Amino acid sequence: MTAANFYKPLGLFGFICMFTPIIIALSGYGKMHCARVCPRGSLIGKIGKYVNLGLKRPKLYSEKWFRPLVWAVMMGSFIVMLILVIPQGIFALGNAILIFMEIATVLAILNGILFTPRQWCTICPMGYTSGNLRNLRKKLIHQPAKQEVTV
Ligand code: SF4
Repeated sequence: MTAANFYKPLGLFGFICMFTPIIIALSGYGKMHCARVCPRGSLIGKIGKYVNLGLKRPKLYSEKWFRPLVWAVMMGSFIVMLILVIPQGIFALGNAILIFMEIATVLAILNGILFTPRQWCTICPMGYTSGNLRNLRKKLIHQPAKQEVTV
């Protein structure tokens, strides 16, 4: 994604970031992506170790509706963005995905600095998606995740 700042079509690799947690969750490994694979989660964990104000997180974060709302806003805007940008070609699409990923990373870093290092992970749309897929898979095939990992 860093290289995509210099060559926009590389932003398409952002799709790998988005589909990897889904594939891992559907394969029965639950949220292993969050604990072992996600570069953003790893980055904010490391930054937060050194730069962290440790403020009390707003009550909003504990509300049941907040996480689905963040998910809906981010996924909704991503889909609208795809619809608008795909006809403009690969450079515009790569750039749009790059901007989207970088906005999420900035939000994640800000949350990590202000509250706890991995605060973002409590509302992250991809973490929410993979958690729901894990639960859905458990319900459908009555089989626990192969390796239960929590973040
Ligand atoms: S919750 Fe989101 S940011 Fe955190 S590790 Fe999982 S996918 Fe990455």
